Amino acid sequence: MGYKLITGGIAHESNTFSNSPTTLEDFKRQTYNLGNAVLEGNVRRGVIGGFMEVAARKGVELLPTLQARTTPKGPVTRKAFDHMFTELLGRAESYADVDGAILLLHGAMIVEGIDDAEGYMLREMRKILGHNKPIVTVLDLHANMTKEMIDNADCIVGYDTYPHVDQIVRGREAMRIILGILDGELKPATALAKPPIIPPLQGFVTFRSNGGSRLVERAHEMEKNPQVINVSTFACFPFADTPITGLGLLVNTNDDPVLAERLARELAEYAWKIKEEFIVKLVEPKFAINVAMQAPGGTFILADIADTGAGGTAGDGTIILKALLEAGARDVAVAQIADKEAVDECLLNGVGSEVRLKVGGKQDRFHGDPVEVSGIVRHISDGTYIRRGPQNPGGEERMGSTVVLEIGGRHGIDLMLTSHRAHPSDLQHFRSVGIEPTDKRILVLKSAAHYRAAFSPIAIEVFEVDAPGICHPYLDRFKWKRLRRPIWPLDKIDGVPEFKPITVSHQ
Ligand SMILES: [Zn+2]
Repeated sequence: MGYKLITGGIAHESNTFSNSPTTLEDFKRQTYNLGNAVLEGNVRRGVIGGFMEVAARKGVELLPTLQARTTPKGPVTRKAFDHMFTELLGRAESYADVDGAILLLHGAMIVEGIDDAEGYMLREMRKILGHNKPIVTVLDLHANMTKEMIDNADCIVGYDTYPHVDQIVRGREAMRIILGILDGELKPATALAKPPIIPPLQGFVTFRSNGGSRLVERAHEMEKNPQVINVSTFACFPFADTPITGLGLLVNTNDDPVLAERLARELAEYAWKIKEEFIVKLVEPKFAINVAMQAPGGTFILADIADTGAGGTAGDGTIILKALLEAGARDVAVAQIADKEAVDECLLNGVGSEVRLKVGGKQDRFHGDPVEVSGIVRHISDGTYIRRGPQNPGGEERMGSTVVLEIGGRHGIDLMLTSHRAHPSDLQHFRSVGIEPTDKRILVLKSAAHYRAAFSPIAIEVFEVDAPGICHPYLDRFKWKRLRRPIWPLDKIDGVPEFKPITVSHQ
């Protein structure tokens, strides 16, 4: 009772195939809360909202530091990281009589020169708090887990869902765990297994039956054992060419390192057995468009899963748009192409004007070429909306200045152009710009999987489409230099591997 806990955290998912480093400005444009703003910005939502709910009931005082997060992109610059982390640590050190720290990190942040930024942050936090005060952190399901992380945290809790709809629940769970440690009821023993598997991002979606959902199911069964505190299955963030990238299976037991190690090994063996279920098979854009155009009705989703704004891509891929134009597709809405230049040109011309533009394919050479379109500017806005769907409801999205370009008349293609990279994972993404998604025959969504929570219920069928991008599930299309090898599915591994290393930590 009456505990005081430091909270906050820096979160990013870094794609080493991106040519665009993540800067301080990227964080400041999205989430950059200092001091009390950390708490005020998370009431009733997200992981920190979960911390706050349990803290309020148990009389715990949360001591806010910094919360920063931004959409995935290339690794974070050293300058940006040093600035943010100095701010976070400085505020942490300014508090007196602290009992521990409960943090929200990601697990796949790379800083220039630091592959394992979370391990680094946890180690520095440990230096401040010493060994007798607990540190608990929540990580994203896409964390690339390391020994450094588990050595410097008393307990780590990962999301169980992808799309991530259990953030607030994990926040509450983490707070209960740290209070259990402080009350002397829990003494976590942790085991981490890293089998040589790099599951494609889209092959670990827990909203359908695949390798990911089956692993999570098995983890939940293990959690029924009263000696088990928590089991997390970290899918990894595959688009990071580092030696630490790959599946991570984490078991926390109450004071039983032998059980933790046994369960981690069991989970790794199970993952190896079902690994083929992580493989994703895509369809050609042309095929998906034809099926949708010939159907008597209903809304079809063409998921542009390799160019997801939430995975650090350019967000300006044009291959599906090009196929739609060639097929003369009707009643289509495209979310979206990030192209500030094209948006600015539409802003200059104004609503109702007719424009001819080259859109997309400008950021790098991995997402198709610019495509020439002409149409009428139907909508202009600042691109800000409040989420209403199952994932992070109440959260604010900022797409930057946003335009809807109507190509081929009222029943043609509504093309959303945004000045920032955006990520359609809520129906408000369309509704906020005057498009009713359920009226459309085809919705093109640049999203790897998060779209499923809100959009699957309105779709008659979802097609994962083979278009290029640096979040592509066919991992053999990437040039790997630093990845741990051999690793499945890139390498052929005979027999069953030994699942070393399994790291055990018991503080
Ligand atoms: Zn994630």
